[in-house]
Order: sequence, then structure tokens, then C-alpha cells
Amino acid sequence: MIKSSPTVKDSAFCYGEPKIVMAWVMLRKLILLNFIFFPCLAVASRIAIEADRIIDGIADQPLVSTVILVDNGLIVDVGGRELIDPNYQYIDLTGNTLMPGLIDVHSHPLIHAEDYQLAHLQTSSAYKALKGMKSLQRLLAAGWTTLRVMGDSDVYYANQDIRRVIEEGVFQGPRLVGAAHYLSTTAGGGDIRFFSPEQQIIPDGLIVDGIDEVRRAVRQEIKFGSDWIKLLVTGAFMSAGDNPKNVHFSPEELLAAVTEAARFGVPVAAHAHAAEGIRMAVEAGVRSIEHGTFIDNATMDLMVKKGTFLVPTLYVGDVLADGNSDYREKEFNIAFKKQGQNDLLARVGEAYRRGVKIAAGVDLCGYNHN
Ligand SMILES: [Zn+2]
Repeated sequence: MIKSSPTVKDSAFCYGEPKIVMAWVMLRKLILLNFIFFPCLAVASRIAIEADRIIDGIADQPLVSTVILVDNGLIVDVGGRELIDPNYQYIDLTGNTLMPGLIDVHSHPLIHAEDYQLAHLQTSSAYKALKGMKSLQRLLAAGWTTLRVMGDSDVYYANQDIRRVIEEGVFQGPRLVGAAHYLSTTAGGGDIRFFSPEQQIIPDGLIVDGIDEVRRAVRQEIKFGSDWIKLLVTGAFMSAGDNPKNVHFSPEELLAAVTEAARFGVPVAAHAHAAEGIRMAVEAGVRSIEHGTFIDNATMDLMVKKGTFLVPTLYVGDVLADGNSDYREKEFNIAFKKQGQNDLLARVGEAYRRGVKIAAGVDLCGYNHN
């Protein structure tokens, strides 16, 4: 009997029960093992699924002639035909290949335009929620079954409401974890700089300055459902007028965020491009570094020691520099891609060789998923 690990998740990134929700069929045919195509799954709690091959994400080859047993949404065994049991509802997917649902650990489903800071000011939270719901359903249909939301440019908590209605079964969508907002300093990556001082606007990020405001914001995020805290530690490539090589939060503010979140058992994700900002965030005890563009070797070693994840978000740079997008910082992003992309790839390769744990984050927004 061929056996493999019964779970499909990394507990560091996903909360909730692991379950099979989709099966990828080779030759461009997609079968979703969900309630649309298999209404029987809504009532059957014990299911045996037989397929020709299973890509389990662990072995370097697909498992062949395999059966998966699912009990109450949980994969309890993977093996040969001897697992087929009359007490389990049998689903015949022979001729097909199955794989686990894909997990994107860096997503912004409510951001619906490339010039997202302006779009944030032009559209309501309800509009963002409706568009975001559509994006999430498209992602699920494409095989993405879990997303970690890294803040959305939304004043309210629409991503938490979306998560709630999905969990309640009102709408179908991927499992969501993550942060409602990204926390930023004044003039940081989550602030908006292109309005006059007379204009009282609410920026796309949650603006916090000083230890007390950081603590309060962390508590508020958790109060309204965030199970990650997202910090914009350095400048951002897409925030108008920003410089990714600047560090914005102080070490004291970072420590306050991590300490406060830890009281609730909530991990912190740090958006950080500048090497110094990455090091400061790792030293403060964040669980993951988002982007990590200018990471140095010493910090890679520190991440290995502390078990910090790197989420390099490589793909979004390609999309934003491909010339088809239109946004304020386009020239800056194209220039970086030309000059810095090879160095960036080399640094991610070095992090991998040194043993840094790397997770896949796409960093695309709702509008990119067509
Ligand atoms: Zn992002």
C-alpha cells in the first residue's frame, strides 16, 4: 500500500481543518470536488475517492492507483484500493489526477484597481466587498482553496465579513485567514501623500505612530477578526512617493506589535524590502517576511535560526513591470525590474540554499485574477 501524509496544510499558515476541496484533472480539465458538482458531498461525511494519480505535495512523483478517505472534511488515509470500505461513499475519479488545493499566503482580494490608492478613495467598502467576493470565487474555481489576506485598502472590515459569509455557507469561496488592514506609519507605505494638507482623507493603510497606537491597532485588528497582524515595516514599490529602501517603524514599535499580538496568540507578518527593516522585523520576532527584496545573508541565517518564513512574492513584479498595467509608480517598478530582478532572484536562491523556509505568495489583487 502506498501511503502518504494525510494532511495537506502547513499549520504555521493555515488555521482550521484541512480538507480536500478540489481535484486537478490533467489535460486542462478541472473537476472541483465541491458541492456544485457533487451535491452528495454536502450530506456525506465519509467519502472514498479513487483516482489514477495523486500529487500529494510531498513525494517527488505522483502516487498511482490511489484512494483517499475523507472523514468529516478531513483526509484520514491515502492508500490503495483495499481502503475502499462500504461505509464510505465511493466517488470514482479514475482517469483523473488529484492534487491538494493551492494556498496563497499573500493576497489582497479587495484591491480592485492598479492605482489602488486612488481607487480606495473612490469606492465604498461595500463595492470593494462585492468585487472582492467575485474575485475570490474565481480564485476558488482556479484551485486556490486557502488565502492569507495581507490587508486590503478598505476603511472597514469587509474582508472579515466575506470570510464570515463563506464560513456560514452563504457564499462559496476559499478559506480565508489573515489581516484586515496593513498597519503603516504616517508617511509610510500605507499612507497617501498626493493630496494637499487641507484634505482630510482616510488612507488605504491603518496609520499608527508610536507604541501606544501600535498596541491599540493590534488589539482592534484582533477584536474584529484578524488572525494575523500585517505591518508595513519599510517603504513600498507601489505606494506613490514611497521608497522601499526606507525603514518606517522603529524597533520599539515592532516589538510592541509582536508582543501585543502574541498575547492573543496571533502572529505578525512584516512587509519589508530594505535589508535593515527585514533584520529589525526578524529580531522583533515576526513570523513571516513579505517580499524581502534586499535581504542580506546574515538576516537569512537569523531567519533560519528563528524559523521565520520568507514570502518573496516574485510573480507580482513581473506582472507590474510587463507594460500592460497603468499606475503611478510604473516607471519606478519597470526600472527596478530591469536593474534589480536578477539580483533579487539570486538572493531568494541564496535564502533557499541557506535553509530559509519559503512560502508561496502571489501578491496579486482582485483585478489581476481574470
Ligand atoms: Zn502585498
